Amino acid sequence: MDAVYYSFLAGFATAVGALIFGLIGHPGRRMLSGSLGFAGGVMLAISVFDLMPEALDLGTMFSVVVGFLLGVGVLFALDQLVPHAHAGADDQPKPERTDNVPTFNSRALQTGYLIFLGIAIHNLPEGLAIGAGLEASPELGLYIAVAIGLHNIPEGIAVAGPLRAGGLSLGKIFGLTLLAGMMTPLGALIGLFLFGLSPVLVGGGLAFAAGAMVYIVIDELIPQMAELHQLVGTSALLVGLLLGFVLGG
Ligand SMILES: [Zn+2]
Repeated sequence: MDAVYYSFLAGFATAVGALIFGLIGHPGRRMLSGSLGFAGGVMLAISVFDLMPEALDLGTMFSVVVGFLLGVGVLFALDQLVPHAHAGADDQPKPERTDNVPTFNSRALQTGYLIFLGIAIHNLPEGLAIGAGLEASPELGLYIAVAIGLHNIPEGIAVAGPLRAGGLSLGKIFGLTLLAGMMTPLGALIGLFLFGLSPVLVGGGLAFAAGAMVYIVIDELIPQMAELHQLVGTSALLVGLLLGFVLGG
């Protein structure tokens, strides 16, 4: 079943971020900025060039506008309820050290759990987006899953950093990011059911996906990317945008 497969892989990318963190530690500013920018560019291209026109084909302008605003609104509301995910290299609290004895930072652990919660909850509407895409066509579902999977990798790194600084073992961190990632297939299944009820809902669902992804790019990916390394981030975003257009065309 495509829905389970695609959305599982997209969600699993969160745990891949934790694995990368475990293997190489925190990536450099350029690397992180480039991956955030690239993922953002691909997400923007798919939202604007693919999802919105497809949504209009299936529904009405009214259903598209309402769907888009709902996608933006749900992510905005989640932002108010749970803290943002910060992938910034300098945002990670470091373990406190006294002499040569490392003691772990309990504040970092708390931050890590909050970011974990934020990522886990916001993975649900991202799964919904994949479900809406799959309901329209397998290709669209795949594009959305790839775009979401790409940006889940730096998100996984953002969860892993503070949890590690807080003293959690890499195994536990992997388990937690996997748990957060599995909210994506759960959301996809809910989306498939919900948007499968009527074709107009599928159109609205695609616009919802577009609104949610554009919001994440503007609110999270671009500011973090610019803070880390403006030039690398902007270049990667433009490459991602163009590549997303070419692949979708
Ligand atoms: Zn996300």
